[in-house]
Amino acid sequence: MKIIVFVKQVPDSAAKVTAENGQAAWGEAPMVINPWDEYAVEAALQQKEAHGGTVTAISIGSENAKEALKHALAMGADDAILVSDPALKNLDTQAIARLLAAIVQKVGGVDMAFFGRQAIDGDSGLTPTQTARILGWPALTLAASIKVEGSTVTVERSFEEGRQIVSANLPAVFSLVKDFGEPRYPSFMGIRKASRAEIPTWTLADLGIAAPTPVVSWPTLINPPSREVKCEFITGASAQEIAEKLADKLIAEKVL
Ligand SMILES: Cc1cc2nc3c(=O)[nH]c(=O)nc-3n(C[C@H](O)[C@H](O)[C@H](O)COP(=O)(O)OP(=O)(O)OC[C@H]3O[C@@H](n4cnc5c(N)ncnc54)[C@H](O)[C@@H]3O)c2cc1C
Repeated sequence: MKIIVFVKQVPDSAAKVTAENGQAAWGEAPMVINPWDEYAVEAALQQKEAHGGTVTAISIGSENAKEALKHALAMGADDAILVSDPALKNLDTQAIARLLAAIVQKVGGVDMAFFGRQAIDGDSGLTPTQTARILGWPALTLAASIKVEGSTVTVERSFEEGRQIVSANLPAVFSLVKDFGEPRYPSFMGIRKASRAEIPTWTLADLGIAAPTPVVSWPTLINPPSREVKCEFITGASAQEIAEKLADKLIAEKVL
């Protein structure tokens, strides 16, 4: 089984992201592997453990995206590739998807391509389906469990309204949700292997394509308007008195 897992490097979820001069800024906050992509790595590793083969972690980004790739290596991925090129600027989801599809084709013979459900910075969740569309592969999104029998894969999809069982033929694209189960921690041996790993960088020339043109642009980014918030503590001799005062307030403010 030839398995690819796409990981994105993002600002830590505790970072305070603000708009500065029309651009997103997160100060000195560390960059980490997108938390959803850890579930994708876990799913990829489980498929390798069940069926044999290799897991390759791939990221598009700058040189420091190698840290996200090292996290995937430390979890157990066999190898990793960074895709980086000075010509890659102002990318939108369909441009990223075109690049990811070109990577899948360059690697060749891929059976399963794993994604997180969404990136916690861009937050669109569009990349997996757009990549599947370009490849002409089935998109099995929001996967909570994955079972491969021969060339058929059955996926239990998890969403707010319930669960749905879908099946398709491989090769296919998968996006993973939390219900899949906790991702494993990187092992000590894995961390040592990752720290020594030489991660190759592919450019657009290696992929044999020109920089994809975005169809959506972000001319500026602005902070949400500041809101005036008043905080009032309601006091009383008993819980009932406090509740009655609160109810009166809510009625007076036309909340109820
Ligand atoms: C070189 C470069 C330049 C960019 N320029 C801009 C810009 O000018 N303005 C702007 O707003 N954004 C820019 N971006 C961000 C880019 O638009 C989004 O990251 C991209 O479209 C993915 O959308 P998303 O973050 O909503 O991911 P989602 O669709 O939410 O991600 C879903 C999954 O797709 C995979 N994935 C997504 N992105 C990557 C990646 N880079 N590498 C590997 N796997 C990935 C992951 O598995 C992830 O869990 C740039 C990104 C790059 C790499």
